[in-house]
Amino acid sequence: MRKHIFNAGPSVLPVEVLKEASAAVVELNNSGQSILEISHRGQTFEGMIAEAKSLVKELLGLGDDYDVLFLQGGASMQFCMVPMNFLNQNETAAYVDTGTWSSKAIKEAKLFGKVDVLASSKAENFNHIPKGYEIPKTAKYFHITTNNTIYGTQFHSYPESPVLYVADMSSDFLSREINAQQFDFIYAGAQKNVGPAGATLVILKKELLKKIDKTLPSMLDYRVYAENDSLYNTPAVFSIYVCLLTLRWIKKTGLKTIEKINDAKASAIYAAIDRNPLYNGHSAKEDRSKMNVTFTLSKPELEDAFDEACAKADIVGVKGHRSVGGFRASIYNALPLESVHVLCAVMDDFAKKHG
Ligand SMILES: *Cc1c(COP(=O)(O)O)cnc(C)c1O
Repeated sequence: MRKHIFNAGPSVLPVEVLKEASAAVVELNNSGQSILEISHRGQTFEGMIAEAKSLVKELLGLGDDYDVLFLQGGASMQFCMVPMNFLNQNETAAYVDTGTWSSKAIKEAKLFGKVDVLASSKAENFNHIPKGYEIPKTAKYFHITTNNTIYGTQFHSYPESPVLYVADMSSDFLSREINAQQFDFIYAGAQKNVGPAGATLVILKKELLKKIDKTLPSMLDYRVYAENDSLYNTPAVFSIYVCLLTLRWIKKTGLKTIEKINDAKASAIYAAIDRNPLYNGHSAKEDRSKMNVTFTLSKPELEDAFDEACAKADIVGVKGHRSVGGFRASIYNALPLESVHVLCAVMDDFAKKHG
């Protein structure tokens, strides 16, 4: 029986995508070859990359002034590639520090230039999204992490940036309708909302490529990926293929519909937290993430028992990250609403017994 998969990443994928992908592992569309055996050079895979690119642009509402690249190395590689390509030693990049992933991005940027941390919620264990700072017009770029996977906070509106705007959208990519044109550069590891581990998506304004003014190692140079349609070397063929299937699923379902279901899932769990004093939400209410719901127990000694209650209900992946403790329910696109109902029933039931 399939479990209720609340894993933070790699994470739940649509069952129909898993079925199609597993059939393609045996044989891709009557081609006599597995998806694992085809060349990355040739019409079949080039067609897949082209379709995946155009779906990403369509779903984000972006036109031909943007390019979509597929890279490896995870979102973490982007922490260094962004400053490596766009920041020089004597220049300053502006970051908002909203958690572990932002902090790691800041650390890497410092290797290449100066970093101005405009705001941080670190002193409050990243339980909110800082507001009310000014973005200096002299900054080379401005960087945010739109959803903080570990702490369970999310930007529900994006500050306006007067400078090149960079966003790590790894954990809320294509989970809702956004005005993507606001951003010049978006990156996301696939393994949260759009596919398996192994592929990283970069969406950037093409004109940015002209602003890169240094010699870089080929594999760390966005221009090389763009000029070669992400086929400079062997890309993560299977991972990109599963991303394509997931993107088709998102389009077929409709981003608006997915957003509505995601809203319903998040509201249901937050309501369970709010009606039971046993649970304490980690995030400030106005910044609560609709992708990762974090909470602790007001009786921490019951954590193992709560884990057991979840396991009994076939729920996996709700153990919290060590930096927050407690629990985290990741409720990405492909997680069915029914799974959330199962979790909420366990939460209510457990609170009744132990509250
Ligand atoms: C998971 C995650 C990362 C790191 O992704 P990797 O692909 O493991 O490098 C970075 N940023 C955010 C927001 C994430 O959720």
